[in-house]
Amino acid sequence: MSDTPLPPFRARSLAAQAMGRIEPVTRAVVAPLHVSTTFLRDPDNGYSSGFSYARPDNATVREAESVIAMLEEAPAGALLFGSGMAAATAVFSALEPGDHVVAPTVMYWALKRWLREELPRRQIAVDFVAMDDLDALRAALRPGTTKLVWIETPGNPLWTVTDIAAAARLAHTAGARLAVDSTAASPIHTRPLTLGADIVMHSATKILNGHSDVVAGVLAGAEADDFWSRLVTLRAGGGAILGPFEAYLLMRSLRTLPLRAAAQSASAAELARRFQAHPAVSAVLYPGLPEDPGHAIAARQMEGGFGFMLSIRVAAGEAAAIATAARVRLWKRATSLGGVESLIEHRASVEGPGSPCPPDLLRLSVGLEDIDDLFDDLDTALRGGDSPGAA
Ligand SMILES: *Cc1c(COP(=O)(O)O)cnc(C)c1O
Repeated sequence: MSDTPLPPFRARSLAAQAMGRIEPVTRAVVAPLHVSTTFLRDPDNGYSSGFSYARPDNATVREAESVIAMLEEAPAGALLFGSGMAAATAVFSALEPGDHVVAPTVMYWALKRWLREELPRRQIAVDFVAMDDLDALRAALRPGTTKLVWIETPGNPLWTVTDIAAAARLAHTAGARLAVDSTAASPIHTRPLTLGADIVMHSATKILNGHSDVVAGVLAGAEADDFWSRLVTLRAGGGAILGPFEAYLLMRSLRTLPLRAAAQSASAAELARRFQAHPAVSAVLYPGLPEDPGHAIAARQMEGGFGFMLSIRVAAGEAAAIATAARVRLWKRATSLGGVESLIEHRASVEGPGSPCPPDLLRLSVGLEDIDDLFDDLDTALRGGDSPGAA
């Protein structure tokens, strides 16, 4: 694609045009899909294009990475992986035996399980702390030995808010890096690197792609330092790069991310308000609510909305929560989040023993459907009836 420098348009303009590049040969406004696994050597034995083989790098992947790096304001750029888990575990794989990690008690369950099972095998110690309590983080840090602080904000599935700037200061004072799983915030609402974080991670399967048809993950970096180079090396050596077809679909989705994130967050905020007043709901967990314990910090570090995820606690308990999830017609009873279709999940059934998730909690991922349909469908299910207008 053309290397013409882009004027400093705003993020929404750049995203809408996938950086606005024009393919120089055909003058196409959509970047071509590069499927070739191998590239011709030059007569002088070099690779002047910068491409030699598709495992370390791919031009379509690079195009999608450039949009994400722009959105995250990431000076080091972005690296796409075959899943969010591949991206997250690459960060931990870049640590050395003897290193210490601090991670949150409230975090994406599959990654927490991976940390518990895999880090000890690598002689890496991990402590889990309540990251909404900065004193707990400070107490867990082992200066010189703690090499990574991992946070997730808002944290799945309680939507606990962590103060990114404060966590970055504490991590840096101890000589550690701060990595942020920002999947539930998206770069539209929070840009952790601008708040002092070193690495931001997303499951791009979620709102970045947003159409429930691609599994992908991404890291974006504040500085192209040795640690970042190590991540580049680990992705190439481990063969964890995203495929070009998936990168193409992801780039197509990123063009509408600012609109989708704004609309889904606005609907989530409205549903949070309505369910707060619902007789069958004992609590609504959503950082956009003024009463939420994380609201003040969220209001400082999030803009344009508080995200598309919320959870409700069903007053009548676990069995009623599961029955409610079985009764909805418009909401889809499925795992995952961030898609254009709204999803509902009884999260404790997924996480099992040892999870901080209350048994009466239903996790809601708010999509793009009509807000009144979303409310009415879940309202009816909560009241024990069949949804009106159900097909
Ligand atoms: C889904 C998710 C992940 C894992 O991503 P995959 O793309 O499923 O591998 C990590 N963190 C959060 C917050 C997620 O929601």
